[in-house]
Order: sequence, then C-alpha cells, then structure tokens
Amino acid sequence: MSAIDLTKKLVNFNTVSRDSNLPLIDYVATYLDDFGIKSHRVESPDGKKSNLYASIGPEEPGGVVLSGHTDVVPTDGQDWHTDPFMPEIKDGNLLGRGTCDMKGFIGTALSLVPEMNSLEKPIHFALSYDEEIGCKGAPSMIAEIVDKLPPPQAVIVGEPTGMKAITGHKGMVTLKTAVQGHEAHSSQIHRGVSAVMTAATLVTKLNAMTQELAAATDTATGFEPHHSTIHVGIIRGGTAINIISRRCEFQWDIRCIPADDPKIILDEFEKFCRDEILPNMKSIDPQCSIDTQITASAPSFLMADSPALSLLTALGVQPAKSHAPYVAEAGQFQSSGLPTVICGPGFIDQAHKPNEFIALDQLNQGEQLLRSVIQRLTRS
Ligand SMILES: [Zn+2]
Repeated sequence: MSAIDLTKKLVNFNTVSRDSNLPLIDYVATYLDDFGIKSHRVESPDGKKSNLYASIGPEEPGGVVLSGHTDVVPTDGQDWHTDPFMPEIKDGNLLGRGTCDMKGFIGTALSLVPEMNSLEKPIHFALSYDEEIGCKGAPSMIAEIVDKLPPPQAVIVGEPTGMKAITGHKGMVTLKTAVQGHEAHSSQIHRGVSAVMTAATLVTKLNAMTQELAAATDTATGFEPHHSTIHVGIIRGGTAINIISRRCEFQWDIRCIPADDPKIILDEFEKFCRDEILPNMKSIDPQCSIDTQITASAPSFLMADSPALSLLTALGVQPAKSHAPYVAEAGQFQSSGLPTVICGPGFIDQAHKPNEFIALDQLNQGEQLLRSVIQRLTRS
C-alpha cells in the first residue's frame, strides 16, 4: 500500500484522545503480522487504549526507533469543509484530522515495511496513545523498549517539523486547582468567601508570574516565546449571581523551557496561596481550602548534539532554526537515555485546526528520508 493510502486508512480510525485507539492498533498489528512481524502492546491501565511497538530486522543495538502518537485532537465545533475522518486530496494536499499530526508520518513509515527486508540494524516502531492529553501513554512503552530492546542509535519522533531536525521542546505540567469558599447571600460579602473571586485572584497571580518569567529569561533560548509560560484554559464556578460561590475550579498548564523547573513555579504559587490568600479565607470559615493537583506532566527536551541528530544531518536533513513550539514525547525518550530528534513531514501550523492537511510534497519528502534511513541500515 502507498504512503498516501496507508495514511488515509489510519485517518479513517477516529482516534480522538477521549476514545479508544484499539481499532487502529488492531489494524496495525494485523498489517505487521501479514509481513511476519510480531508486535507488542502496552495497554492503558483501563485497557481501553494501547501503545504498540514492533521490531524489524536483527535483534541488535544501533537500530532506529520511528515514534508517533496514534491519537488526534477533537474536531468538535470546528468548521470542516470535508469529513475529517474521510481524507480527501485537494490541490496537492491531503485533508483530514491527523493527516499532519501525525498519521502521515506513521502511514509513510508503515508503507515502507516491504522495503525493510534486508536490514543489518533493526527498525523499531513505537506508536503511543494519549499524547495530545499530556503525553500520558508513551512512558510505559518507553520503559519496555529500554528494558527489552537492544539500545537504538536514534529515536526519530515524527511530529510535523517541515522535515527539519528539531532538538528541543518545552516541558509541560497540567494542573487543576479547586477553590472551596463559603456560601452566603451576595449582599453579605463580609460573611462569605467567594471561590470565584478567589480563583480570579489566583489567575491574576499566575499571569503576573508569567510576566516575571518573561522579564527574567534571556531572550536567546531558541523558544517562541523565549520564556516559560503559565496559562489557565478552563475555569468553572458559582451557581447564581446572588450567591457567594462555594466552589470554583480552574485548569492550567506550565510550559517550561529546559532551564526552568516547573516545581519551583508551582512552589511559588502554593506559597502565595498559603501565605497571602488562605489565612483570610480561613478566618471566615476554617473549611475553606485551595487544592492543586498535577494531572499530567511531560519533561522538556534538549539534545543539541546526539547520534540521532548526526544520523539525520548525514542524510541531508537541515537543523531547524528554533525549537518546537509544542510539547512532544521526545523529552520522555531523552529522559530514558535514548538519543532523540524530532523530524517529520508537515507543518504544525496546519495541525489541530479545522481542515487540517498535509502537503503531498511533504509526505513525499518524509518518504524519501525514511527510505534513506532504511538504506543506511541495510546490508550493502
Ligand atoms: Zn503531535
């Protein structure tokens, strides 16, 4: 099957992160099995999703891991002109959810399996779930790869980079803060503690902290923006205009450059809550509380020099001028001691949006690169 056809096939599976990816994983396992390739699953704790990894070629060190996530972001509320899960080619582009991020890369890699028949060093596939909701799936698979496979020379994370080699991305911690106040009539603000108003103070504090990080960070970090950021994405609270709200929750993230430690940022926030906010709240009702939980985290990535980068540059890939604006699984591979680089077809600007697409030319360049990786690992 061609790279385009296999990409289309993968896009047909609706693998939005909230749903199961098992039909896609079954499909890939069967596809590999037809070539006599055994694959291994590493399932989510509830068994509804799975990673899959597989090795082709001799069981030897020095192979290359091709890594991709199988989940995609939702299409809800987006203005699509085509069915997002029925990909179509229009004006030299393949349209559909996940074509760019990142089933184009996975489909291309899988389509080249028939050409991986005389490998001297192995090629490993590493397909994950739940990347889009905090890189939650990959760690259990990476642990198994490190444990069970001979050490590879390179991990190529095929996120869309326009086929440039990217050697850095920010880390991310996602959090949920729940504020518990004390209900009263809205005319009696001296008798209640508003969870909504308290949350607003905390959000303002987080905003100020981002401004401080921006001012304190050297502008030449290679990241855009150059500093670590804090952003609140969801806030919910209150029941009526005239009730001082008892509960308010907000969800936020810290995206850290490698030089910053998210724990220090979180500690500053916790200290502010403890010292500046909670005493006043508790003077009205000792039950009042502010509780912050980490819901997901992924480490930052920075590998300016590695065998993974050398492999790609030897094959003619240009290093990118800046680091990735997004968080990916590269930091998790790096944390496990694996030489890693991000390089894949398509551009991130075309991902996550309605009418997501990948240019066929990009898909083609991805295919050329993977073909030269295969050649390099093949007996001459
Ligand atoms: Zn992605």
